[in-house]
Amino acid sequence: MERIAIIGCGISGMTLAKRLSEAGIAAEIFEKESKPGGIARGFKAEGWKDSVEFFYHHWFQKDDDLLGLIDELGLKDCVKFRTPKTVMFHKGKFYRFDTIPAALVYPGLGYGIHKIRFGLAGVFLRLTKNWQELEKVTAKEWMTKYAGEFAYKTMWEPMMVGKFGTEYADQVNMAWLWARIYSRSTSLGTFDGGMQDLFDNFAEHLQKQGTAIRFNTAVKSICKNPDSKFEVITADGKYSNFDKVIVTTSPQSMLGLSDQLPDSYRQQLEALKHLGAVVLCVRLKKPLSPQGYYWYNLPKNEGFPFLALVEHTNFIPKERYNNETIVYAGDYLPHGHEYFKLGEQELLEKLIPGFRKINPDFSEDWIIDVRKFAADYAQPVPFVNHSRAIPDMKTPLEGLYFISMSQIYPWDRGMNFAVRWANDLAGNIIQS
Ligand SMILES: Cc1cc2nc3c(=O)[nH]c(=O)nc-3n(C[C@H](O)[C@H](O)[C@H](O)COP(=O)(O)OP(=O)(O)OC[C@H]3O[C@@H](n4cnc5c(N)ncnc54)[C@H](O)[C@@H]3O)c2cc1C
Repeated sequence: MERIAIIGCGISGMTLAKRLSEAGIAAEIFEKESKPGGIARGFKAEGWKDSVEFFYHHWFQKDDDLLGLIDELGLKDCVKFRTPKTVMFHKGKFYRFDTIPAALVYPGLGYGIHKIRFGLAGVFLRLTKNWQELEKVTAKEWMTKYAGEFAYKTMWEPMMVGKFGTEYADQVNMAWLWARIYSRSTSLGTFDGGMQDLFDNFAEHLQKQGTAIRFNTAVKSICKNPDSKFEVITADGKYSNFDKVIVTTSPQSMLGLSDQLPDSYRQQLEALKHLGAVVLCVRLKKPLSPQGYYWYNLPKNEGFPFLALVEHTNFIPKERYNNETIVYAGDYLPHGHEYFKLGEQELLEKLIPGFRKINPDFSEDWIIDVRKFAADYAQPVPFVNHSRAIPDMKTPLEGLYFISMSQIYPWDRGMNFAVRWANDLAGNIIQS
C-alpha cells in the first residue's frame, strides 16, 4: 500500500488525507500544534457553548467545495447562514454598506457621475469571468480608469492599503479584487459550536478511516533517500518509508524543510510575498456597537489603530458565549511591525482609542479578558501576472508536493479554495 506523509492538519491537510485514504492510500498527518484546524482553529473560554476562531472566520454562499465536504462528513445541518450588518466609516460616522440601496446612499462615494461609474464598474466585475485579462494590470490602474479616481481613492485604496500595506497596495493585480467582488455574498456562514468543532469532527472521522494524526509533532526536515523513499524528521525521531510527502505550510517553512529542492523552485518560493496578521480578541461585559454592527471597515487614513473591527456576537448570538460580547480588532501587517512584539496588555492600550472612537461610552471596566493571536503568514500578495509566478504543487523533487494559500488564485485565500485545491491535488496524485 502506498504511504503518504502530510505536513499540517489544517483544512488542506485533512481534505488531502480524506481523499487519499478513500482511494486506498495510507495517509499520515504530522501537526506541530495540539489540535486540528491550522490557522482557522479556535478556543473556548469557560462557560461558553461555542468556540471562537483565533482569527475571525466566516464562509460565503458560493463556498460549494467546503459546504460539499461538510455535507460528506454528515455535518450539513451544523452550517448556519446569517446576514449580519457591515458598515463603512466615513468622516466620523458609520454607514451601512451591505446592500445595493445602502451603497447607493453611502456619502463616501460622492454622488452623480462618481457613483454611476462605481456602480457600472461593479456590475461589470460581477458579470465578467475573464480574470486572465484583469491580472495584467494593477487594481489601482483598472479601478482608476473605469470606476474613476474618486471611487478608487475613497473606496478601494483604503481597503488595498489595509490588506496589503502601503508597500504592496499599488502593486496588487486587478484579478484579485475581481475575485472578491465576484465570489462574495452578504449572507455569511459559520458552524454551530464554532469552527473548531468542525475540525475536531473531521480529525475524528479521519482517524476512524485509518489516518494516523501525530499532534504536537513539528517536522524539522524532509529527506528523499537513494531508494526514492522519503524520511520525515521530527524533534522526537525519524519516520521512514513514505512514497510521497505533501507539505501544507507556508512557502518560507517549505524552504526550510527540504534542502533537496532545485534552485529554480526555491527561487519561485522566495519570490512569493505575504503579510502577517495580528488580532486581539476581547471579551466584554457589554456590546461595543449599540446598533448591532458585525463588520466595521476602518480606513487607515481615518486614524484607527487597526484595520477591521469584528463584533462576533453580532453574528453569532451572545447567549452562546455566556452573554459576553466578543470583539476582534485586527490588522494585516508587514513582518517586524511592533504589534507582533507587543504583549496583550500593551497591544490593548494601543487599540483602546479605536474602541472609544467606535463607541465613546466604551470603558475599560467592560473588559473581561483579552487574547492576542499573531500569524506570520496570513495574506499572500498577488502581483501583476501572478498566475505565471505560482509554484507548481508538484515540486521538481519527484514525490514531494507543496500546497499553500499562495497558490490559491485568482481567488483570495479562503477555506473553500483550500478544499478545492486539495481535492485537485489529491486527484492528480491518485491518478499518477
Ligand atoms: C486573519 C485571517 C482571516 C481569515 N478569514 C477567513 C474567512 O473568513 N473565511 C475563510 O474561508 N478563510 C479565511 N481565512 C483563510 C483560511 O484560514 C485559510 O484559507 C485556511 O485555513 C488554510 O488552511 P491550510 O490547511 O491550507 O493552512 P493552515 O491552516 O495554515 O494549516 C497548516 C498547518 O501546518 C502546520 N504546520 C506548519 N509548520 C509545520 C511543521 N513544521 N510541522 C508540522 N506542522 C506544521 C500548522 O500548525 C497548521 O496547522 C483567513 C485567514 C486569516 C489569516
